[in-house]
Amino acid sequence: MSGNTVSESLRGLLEWAREYAEEARRLCARCHLCTAACVSYHALRSPLYTPARRIEAAAKVLRGEPIGDKDLEVLYTCTMCGACTALCPYGIEVWRLVHAARAKLSLEGKQPPSLQAIAENMLRGGHSFTPSPEQPRRVLVGAARKAGVEPDSPGRLLYVPSPFETTLYPDVLEASLRALRSAGLEPTVTTKVLDFGGNAAFDASRPDAAVSALEKLRGVLNELGAEVVVLSGCGADHKLAAYAEKLGLPGLGVKTVSLYEAVHGRLEAPGAQLLFPSCGFARFEAHVCPLLRSMARDASVPRDKPPYTMCCGGGGGLNYLREKPLAELRNKIVAWRARKLAAQADSIVTPCIKCYTVIRHGLLLARLVGRVKVVHMSKLLVQSSY
Ligand code: SF4
Ligand code: SF4
Repeated sequence: MSGNTVSESLRGLLEWAREYAEEARRLCARCHLCTAACVSYHALRSPLYTPARRIEAAAKVLRGEPIGDKDLEVLYTCTMCGACTALCPYGIEVWRLVHAARAKLSLEGKQPPSLQAIAENMLRGGHSFTPSPEQPRRVLVGAARKAGVEPDSPGRLLYVPSPFETTLYPDVLEASLRALRSAGLEPTVTTKVLDFGGNAAFDASRPDAAVSALEKLRGVLNELGAEVVVLSGCGADHKLAAYAEKLGLPGLGVKTVSLYEAVHGRLEAPGAQLLFPSCGFARFEAHVCPLLRSMARDASVPRDKPPYTMCCGGGGGLNYLREKPLAELRNKIVAWRARKLAAQADSIVTPCIKCYTVIRHGLLLARLVGRVKVVHMSKLLVQSSY
C-alpha cells in the first residue's frame, strides 16, 4: 500500500505511536517487573522476548530505522495481551506500541503473509478468515435458524458473530443465540455484516480494514431498527469496541455489549472449575464483565501474576501464523500455556472463542488432549438454562 492510500485511522495511530514510543523509552526503567506477566517470555525463556525489548523494537520500526529478523520475532511473538501494562509502575502500554509498529510493517509489506491475509480478506469480503463470504453466510443462516432466529429480520438487538463462529464453530453461534433467547431477549442477525473486525484491526494490525465493517454495520442498524449491538465472545472484537474511539474509527452511535453482559441477571451464572477470563474481557473492557465476575466468586481463576492472568498465548494473531520460525515459537508458547492450565484443573471454561481455540491447540501440542476438557461459555450457559 502506498503512503497516499493510508487511511486517517492509520495515520493518526502512527503519529501517536511515534511520540509514545519515545516517551516509553524515556520512562522504562528496565526493572522487568512486567516480565513476570509475559506469557511469551515465560514460554520462550530468552531476554529477547521481554516487554522492555519490545518497546525498543517497536520504537525502531516507528522511527523508520532498519530492523532485522530478530526484531520481527520480538514483535510477532507478542500476544498484545496487555498483561505487562497491568504490572508496570508507569503503566506503559507495550501492546499498543507493538500494534502500531506492526501496522507500519504491514503498510511496508513486511508483515507475515498469514496475518496480511486476514486484513485483505476483511477488506475484500467483510470476513477475516475467507476471501469470499458465501460459505460463512450460509453457516450463519443455518445456525441462526436452528436457534429460532430468522436472519435479516428487524430487531432491537443485533448479534454480530465472530468469524470463528461462521467457520469453525457454528455450534457456538447457535448456542450464543439460544442463550440470548433463553434470557428472554430476541436477537436478530444479519447476512450483511459477518464480522465486527477485531481480528483485522488488532491481530492483523490493520484498523483501516475494520472501518468498512463498522460503516456497513451502522447502515444495517438503521435498516433493522437495532438499538444495541451484542458482540460474541471474541476477545479481539471486544478490544476493538474498547479502542475504536482511540483509533479514530467511526462510532456506531448505539450501545455495544457482550453477549455475557446482555444475559447477566437473566440467566443463572453457571459453575466452572477453572474460569479462563481472556484479555478481551478482563483487561480491555472498561470493567470486567459482570457475569464473569459473579462466576469467578465460586470458580478458581488462573492468577499467574496478580492482578490478572496471563494470555492464552494466541492473542495478537499468533494463532494465525504459518511462517517459520514464528509458527514454531507460537507452538512453544501455546503448549507451555496449556501445560500450566492443565496443571490447575481438568475442566476449563472460557468466554473467548479465540482462547477456546488456542487452549485446545496447546493441549494437542502438549499431548494433553483427553486429560483436560475446554468448554466454551455459551454452551455452558445454554446447558445450565434448561
Ligand atoms: S503485551 Fe503480553 S505478550 Fe506482549 S510483552 Fe506484554 S505481556 Fe508480553
Ligand atoms: S515494568 Fe515498565 S518500566 Fe519496568 S521494564 Fe517493564 S515496561 Fe519498563
